[in-house]
Amino acid sequence: MNTDVSGPSAALPLASPDAALRPPAITPWRLWRIISRRERCILFGGWLCSVLLSLGLGVLSVAENWSGMPLQFGGVTVYITVYPALLISLWWSLCLGWWWGALPAYLTTLVLALYAGMAWQWAALFAFADPLGVAVMVLGFRALPMLRGLRSLESVLHFVQLSFVGSIFSSSGALIWTYCNKQAFSELLPIWQGWWLGFFLQNLLLVGPVLAQSWRATDRWLSRHQALPPASEAESRHLIVLLLVLVSLGALVYGYLSLSLGSSLLLGQLQHGLSPELRQAATVMTQTGWVFFWVFALQVLFNAFFAYRLFLHWQGRNQQLLTALKQSNAYLAQLVRLDGLTGLLNRRSGDEVLQQEWLRSQRSGQQAVLIMLDIDHFKQVNDEYGHDVGDRVIERVATLLLEHTRAIDTAIRYGGEEFLLLLPHTTQEGGVQLAERLRQQMAARTLHCNDVEVSVTLSLGVAATTMVMQDKAAWVKQADMALYQAKRAGRNRVVAAH
Ligand code: GH3
Ligand code: MG
Ligand code: MG
Repeated sequence: MNTDVSGPSAALPLASPDAALRPPAITPWRLWRIISRRERCILFGGWLCSVLLSLGLGVLSVAENWSGMPLQFGGVTVYITVYPALLISLWWSLCLGWWWGALPAYLTTLVLALYAGMAWQWAALFAFADPLGVAVMVLGFRALPMLRGLRSLESVLHFVQLSFVGSIFSSSGALIWTYCNKQAFSELLPIWQGWWLGFFLQNLLLVGPVLAQSWRATDRWLSRHQALPPASEAESRHLIVLLLVLVSLGALVYGYLSLSLGSSLLLGQLQHGLSPELRQAATVMTQTGWVFFWVFALQVLFNAFFAYRLFLHWQGRNQQLLTALKQSNAYLAQLVRLDGLTGLLNRRSGDEVLQQEWLRSQRSGQQAVLIMLDIDHFKQVNDEYGHDVGDRVIERVATLLLEHTRAIDTAIRYGGEEFLLLLPHTTQEGGVQLAERLRQQMAARTLHCNDVEVSVTLSLGVAATTMVMQDKAAWVKQADMALYQAKRAGRNRVVAAH
């Protein structure tokens, strides 16, 4: 008996609500395959031009020595590096995916390092610094679905934080640079600070505004090509954990390097004869700085751990809600499809099954049979024993139908005490035989309902599909007419449609 409740309405598609908020992660080779020839020429031509521009700007920044330039800022000397090539890499990476910016970033840094005379092995390693910074930013945007376009305070803060962490990771290259150029540890400060501050400020002042303008257009263009795969649940969990680790690590490395470089400069100064009081004050300052750093480090670790626990808790709650929602959807879908009293398909869903079976039988040329049956003089049962007993009788008829049908058959409660049996792959004779069996069984039974004994009979009309039938409605009408004839002929009988 077919009372399966899984249907199109049982599985409601749950669209990922944050798909549009995540930046795309599409590799150049994948995009190459899915876009038209013309778009390929424009996009990849533009990309190549920008790689060349990036290379030129990279070499220029070394030739013009735009690295670690000192700036007086409120009485403090800060160092800044101007490196416009980075703009290009970040724009590509944040609009299309990491690879798009990582390749120009790597090539540019490699070329400028070789141009500056670095050994090629070191240059190859050194060139990973900027792609690393870019990766942190891309990862941050993929991990947290955030409205992009930098039009809300939240999205601006997210961008600022990622720019900072990205800049710290990217500036790791300064260590290699200083080492390869045999510079003293204390000389690292201008290079390192110039690097991260340059990356950070360029990002805020140039990359952010340009991205805010172009994100929407690139997203629209990509979604036209259906090239925006949403992040899966597991993927976003890994990304968030990775982001937390990287952000914490970035903050710790930043604090550690600032303090080490600052105190090594201070110690250098101390050697040039300071008064004992000042020397002692400087030593206390440095020690206090380190104590502060370790407290700060613990706090950062605690925050990261706390954020991770919060995230897991929130994700677990979400999962629970989603499961409950799916269950209640399935339950509602069942309620909509089934008759509450008998558990058979109700008329609405029964009609859908009928339509499908009608089409199938027309296509395959295989006959199917409909038996329409009605309880005789049912009003009397209600009048004599009450509605409660009437309900029990309807249930017993439904049970009888379930007992005598195959798994591929469908029983439908079509009206008050009127039922339809749908029998696929069945001839008119087969249908009449089953109808007769049902009639005999019901006539022979005494039903014990609520302490009373009731006997009822059934009238049944049988109609098989024929080639001349117009539609499903004509099929049902034939069965209905046959049932009407059975009633007219005295009830408790089977009539087959001609
Ligand atoms: P006939 O042999 O011509 O079919 O006579 P009948 O008395 O069965 O006539 P009819 O089909 O007109 O009456 C059906 C009755 O079934 C009327 C209605 O009150 C009753 N009925 C319909 N649905 C239910 C139900 O869910 N429970 C109960 N107890 N009675 C119902
Ligand atoms: Mg009746
Ligand atoms: Mg009736």
